[in-house]
Amino acid sequence: METIGIIGAGQMGAGIAQVVAASGRRVILTDRDLAIAEQARAGIGKRLQRLVEKDKLGSADAEAALARIEPAGDYSPMANAALIIEAATENERIKQTIFADAAKVLAPDAVLASNTSSISITRMAAGVPDPARFIGLHFFNPVPVMGLVELIPGLATDPAVVDRMRAFAADLGKQVVMSRDAPGFIVNRVLMPMINEAVFVAGDGTASIADIDAGCRLGLNHPMGPLELADFIGLDTCLEIMRVLFTGTGDTKYRPAPLLVQYVDAGWLGKKTGRGFYDWTGAEKLPTR
Ligand code: NAD
Repeated sequence: METIGIIGAGQMGAGIAQVVAASGRRVILTDRDLAIAEQARAGIGKRLQRLVEKDKLGSADAEAALARIEPAGDYSPMANAALIIEAATENERIKQTIFADAAKVLAPDAVLASNTSSISITRMAAGVPDPARFIGLHFFNPVPVMGLVELIPGLATDPAVVDRMRAFAADLGKQVVMSRDAPGFIVNRVLMPMINEAVFVAGDGTASIADIDAGCRLGLNHPMGPLELADFIGLDTCLEIMRVLFTGTGDTKYRPAPLLVQYVDAGWLGKKTGRGFYDWTGAEKLPTR
């Protein structure tokens, strides 16, 4: 059975672990400490159970998928992994440290993939012993539901690695789109300036959070408004992506909205902390402005 290492067990790492385990592969899941990875595995168990209750998954398949996920406190169980997928906090220094440490234990032909939303693949690859085996493999949230993977080769990525990852993503049931290594790739380059502009609209008092989201839902026929979507993504992640777009291009059109910075400074990071542009702690989500 193929083994895949997943580093970072937050909303994305847990979602990727669920999909990879459901595909019949063994998953080693780590985070900053073992307890976080164990908690993530318990969360995956609950989500699989909900699929069983909705008749979308057999109970034996759910049990088998969960049994294939092994939380770990360090990278040593990843020594035989064919692939590691890094899905830690969107911060280049954190990711570089992870890859440098993981590279010490990985097999010489293992592929190193980052789920980064925006950070340069070429620059992260330059920090590992073999940049030819480094690639961007960008899943979307929630991973079990969203059908897309962006594949981002860096300047040095071996075309054979691109082919392997294309086949891997297709085997998970995802449609692959290819992007050159440019800040934000395709989807976030288009989406984040829209979210950021919605925050400007809220911040300058043009409209309320509820009206901005209703306007975009009904006026653009989007399934949810940009501020609600930002809460799902995580406002810290949104801010980091805007900073990468801003510094990576030098174009002031990407400057982060001051209100986005303030919400992150306040620790209001969206659904994952219970409060962002909405208060998620009650039965009904309530706008915070
Ligand atoms: P999250 O905050 O839910 O999870 C991040 C996890 O990384 C946390 O569990 C944290 O403890 C862990 N972490 C931090 N430092 C670590 C370290 N040194 N070693 C191991 N783990 C560490 O964030 P997320 O939404 O899951 O995002 C993770 C990555 O996926 C980011 O790069 C983000 O840009 C990307 N991404 C996010 C989305 C989204 O919609 N949220 C979509 C696609 C890609």
